[in-house]
Amino acid sequence: MAKALTIREVPCNGCTLCCQGDAIRLEEEDRALDYKTETHPYIPGALMIAHKPNGECFYLNEQGCSIHSWAPSLCRSADCRSLAIKLNYDAARSLHMMGRLDFRVWLQGRRLIEAMAAHGGKDNQ
Ligand code: SF4
Ligand code: SF4
Repeated sequence: MAKALTIREVPCNGCTLCCQGDAIRLEEEDRALDYKTETHPYIPGALMIAHKPNGECFYLNEQGCSIHSWAPSLCRSADCRSLAIKLNYDAARSLHMMGRLDFRVWLQGRRLIEAMAAHGGKDNQ
């Protein structure tokens, strides 16, 4: 069983865009045997979390992440707001066109940043 990691404070509020069609690479600290995996499409030799036929993460269900307490480290550090800060619109669109980024995730990051700004820098939860 993978060790439990600190849960990040992203106000996802039921959003699961990060769990749809993404390539969640396993990092050194993740124990591959703890997860159902597939070969990573872009990184030779790397593994990623397996997908369902519809492209969703294997571990996503109606309630959200079914392995929340031991989700891989990349899931634990995922924050669409960082992505929206790091990439401008054109860069995000370009990565989307290459199949390297789901533009909806970037857009959600922008929405959260705008919502935080409208609430004086605090998450709107
Ligand atoms: S896109 Fe943002 S709000 Fe949605 S699941 Fe990912 S981190 Fe959470
Ligand atoms: S492991 Fe959980 S948080 Fe990570 S992509 Fe799958 S459902 Fe989402």
